[in-house]
Amino acid sequence: MLQSQLFTKTRKTAPKDEVSKNAELLIRAGFVYKVMAGVYAYTPLGLIILEKIKKIVREEMNAIGGQELIMTSLQKRSTWETTGRWDDEAVDVWFKTKLKDETEIGLAWSHEEAILEMMQQFAESYKDFPISVYQFQTKLRNELRAKSGIMRGREFVMKDMYSLHATEEDCDSYYEKVIEAYKNCFERFGMGSSTFVTFASGGAFTKFSHEFQTICDAGEDVLFVNKDQTVAVNEEVLDDAVSELGIKKEDLEPVKSAEVGNIFKFGTEKSEQMNIFYTDQEGNKKPVYLASYGIGITRVMGVVVEKFADDKGIVWPESIAPFRIHLLSLGVNEKAEELYNEMKAAGIEVLYDNRDKGAGEKFADADLMGMPYQVIIGKRSLESGKAEVKNRATGETEEVMLSELVSRFV
Ligand code: ATP
Ligand code: MG
Repeated sequence: MLQSQLFTKTRKTAPKDEVSKNAELLIRAGFVYKVMAGVYAYTPLGLIILEKIKKIVREEMNAIGGQELIMTSLQKRSTWETTGRWDDEAVDVWFKTKLKDETEIGLAWSHEEAILEMMQQFAESYKDFPISVYQFQTKLRNELRAKSGIMRGREFVMKDMYSLHATEEDCDSYYEKVIEAYKNCFERFGMGSSTFVTFASGGAFTKFSHEFQTICDAGEDVLFVNKDQTVAVNEEVLDDAVSELGIKKEDLEPVKSAEVGNIFKFGTEKSEQMNIFYTDQEGNKKPVYLASYGIGITRVMGVVVEKFADDKGIVWPESIAPFRIHLLSLGVNEKAEELYNEMKAAGIEVLYDNRDKGAGEKFADADLMGMPYQVIIGKRSLESGKAEVKNRATGETEEVMLSELVSRFV
């Protein structure tokens, strides 16, 4: 892509009311636009990142038999009333509104009840299970505080998956598969070594749920991790974990963390409340087992910014960077354009800074925007048939022969 064609421009400063590092950098670099606190739009550049995160998650969910669908943002009051979750006391993030005829409706903050209600029409026999469906959907939540940039939005993209099973054993074994698929996702985002499967507060069915927590100073949670990093517990349930799981408090160290995923077993509680039964092999009516699994897609993007950014700007991991290469032409546009075309023809994702700007500004913008490699084409290096290649994460630079440049990145 040609940088001169982007309608977004970098900015030296973020809006005054922006307090979080992730949003400040993302706004300055032109990846997001702030509409109001907790509400951000994603520009074409920001959208590429979201799509890359989604692609990884999609591949991992498909690999364990997940089927993608999309549910609605407008939800019926009755869907949630049967389980008691329409009540603002039970769910304190509802946005509610009314149709013209005064019918009350809710804006989707989650989809367990909506999925179950739909499945009533399809899952009738034991032969219909297991069912695993997922979506990428914009969730709407009236969050009390929204000061963590895109890490806590009032409108945010979540991947939510729901699995339905005939038996508890089947549900349990699928749940374990999802844990592995989630680990793959976080590994592929470049945050595998700092993300922990964590004991967190559960529901009516199980004492604990599992969160995926990533160590991050800007996170809102506190995680207790043991020395060899095999056990992680959310602060909220520390005392329960100590008494129930025999974990020793003195072995655990607190660290700041961000919840990037949350997985939950509901057992048959919701199906019983909503009257979702199937017929087993003997012809008996049995309630359906449900589990749900979320990943905060936009939150992951925010956490990545927080974790890897340095004093010059964002540093994208290669797997989710909008472009692999930021090609900077320092007054030698003809040669740079030739290289740009060669790179594109070779399938390399490249952003070409062909703008009429000075070297200092181009360097600063490239560092702010955070593509993994900067390829700098200037008069001097060109004379010796070379380009400079800078690794954004390490800051290391090297000279590479122009003739080898493209093959280097294929
Ligand atoms: P939190 O404890 O952070 O409020 P939650 O427990 O309410 O989150 P879930 O309903 O389990 O979150 O949602 C699944 C995932 O969606 C979370 O693990 C998180 O990564 C993400 N998420 C939840 N709320 C937000 C939000 N307001 N903005 C961005 N991402 C969010
Ligand atoms: Mg949570």
